[in-house]
Amino acid sequence: MEQTNRAKIEYLLNQLEASGKRATPQRYAVCQALVEQGGHPTVADVFERVRRTFPMISQATVYNTIDTLKELGLVHQLEIANDEHTHYDLDLQPHINVVCTECGHIHDVHSHIIDALLSEVQRQSGYQLSQQNELVVYGVCPDCQRQACRARRNAVVGIAAHGQQPDADDGATNTNGQANTARTNPSFLPSRRRSKAGNEDLV
Ligand SMILES: [Zn+2]
Ligand SMILES: [Zn+2]
Repeated sequence: MEQTNRAKIEYLLNQLEASGKRATPQRYAVCQALVEQGGHPTVADVFERVRRTFPMISQATVYNTIDTLKELGLVHQLEIANDEHTHYDLDLQPHINVVCTECGHIHDVHSHIIDALLSEVQRQSGYQLSQQNELVVYGVCPDCQRQACRARRNAVVGIAAHGQQPDADDGATNTNGQANTARTNPSFLPSRRRSKAGNEDLV
């Protein structure tokens, strides 16, 4: 693992050098941060990491290095809807980036059918597809699904507990079914009425 990371970093640095950029320790650190961070970091993520070794490095140096890598086709740029930050992807194999609309986590899915799918897209559309296609789909990740489930369960338990109170009754219940009952939280209404009465007493 360590060995492959080192090879990846050196490959990126060699490519930068071949494009006319000097292989400075700062540029090495940017490549290292990109490789070690993995996933889909933003410039800010890489900057934070590089700053541990080079506290004086500017965000512009980080940005320019990543930008050169992007121009060389060694890093892909990932634009995600409703995310103001650009993410970068070192994984150049065709893959689908599945973005969680709740927490923003990006999961890579590789499949042998992606190549076939892109060929089919090219065949049907007649378009010459570019090499840097970042495929992005959206959904809710398993963690966020579990959280939503837990929140829903807690809400149901809360409603059930309230429902057992003696004055959960009258008109509202038999008009419009469950959703309506949940919204007109029965224990809430009487207590508000009570506090209003209390205030009137004080005036
Ligand atoms: Zn990706
Ligand atoms: Zn999520």
